[in-house]
Amino acid sequence: MPELPEVETVVRDLRALVIGRTIVSARVHWQRTIATPRARAFARQIRQHKIRAITRRGKYLIFHLRCRGDRPVAPTKYLLAHLRMTGGFDLVARDAPRDQHIHVCLQLDNGDELRFRDPRKFGRMWLVDDPAQVVGKLGPEPLEISAREFHTRIAKRRGNLKPLLLDQKFLAGIGNIYADEALWYARLHPLRQAESLTRVERGRLYRAIRQVLTRAIAVGGTSIDVMYRRVNGMSGGFTESLRAFDQEERPCRRCGTPIRKTIVGQRGTHFCPVCQIV
Ligand SMILES: [Zn+2]
Repeated sequence: MPELPEVETVVRDLRALVIGRTIVSARVHWQRTIATPRARAFARQIRQHKIRAITRRGKYLIFHLRCRGDRPVAPTKYLLAHLRMTGGFDLVARDAPRDQHIHVCLQLDNGDELRFRDPRKFGRMWLVDDPAQVVGKLGPEPLEISAREFHTRIAKRRGNLKPLLLDQKFLAGIGNIYADEALWYARLHPLRQAESLTRVERGRLYRAIRQVLTRAIAVGGTSIDVMYRRVNGMSGGFTESLRAFDQEERPCRRCGTPIRKTIVGQRGTHFCPVCQIV
């Protein structure tokens, strides 16, 4: 499933392809993909909007749009997208063949079409005047938060580290892959209680989170299975660098003990039973 590094990669791929283009029309083939407004209103409202910027917040993509029409009521709009399990974008010629997994098509002024493809159909889009309507309650970005702020936030929390890292109100953008990887690098057990961390361990976790996310972004994220594709079908290169996630029974790269898989908070969780401290 796409997490912060994968969404950041898709944002960067898209920036290179569609910034400056104008959306001239839109078609929605699966209405539930559009969370707000209703699909028909979405297709009407997004017309004649220029894509000025694309940013990321947590696991959300944010397209910054400006209306090209005469004296619009709301000149700026935002298209937010969440890829969930299998969502992804393709940029193709408008007459390229379309399969049954393409749910939203945005026709651009140069004859290209930006398509949202999502076999499992959990992905969602929002067209809003203010991104805070969708992402307003997210916690801080893990690559932007200061060490001091991280210490303050985690000092207030109770309970196991794994579910805490997955909590988007604690930090935005971390999912199952990078939670397991960050805990392995920090040498902390997924069931470790947040309130039991020493100051040194909190610092280790802060640095591990940033290190693993930064490295994953540098190589385009992790493509474990068909769940995550970069724009136009490329794969991410971080899969070779995984140390815990999806490494069950393989020797720990620090101590040689087989990596173990268990369930924590209903999520598959990978860790080294020896060098990650409970
Ligand atoms: Zn180990």
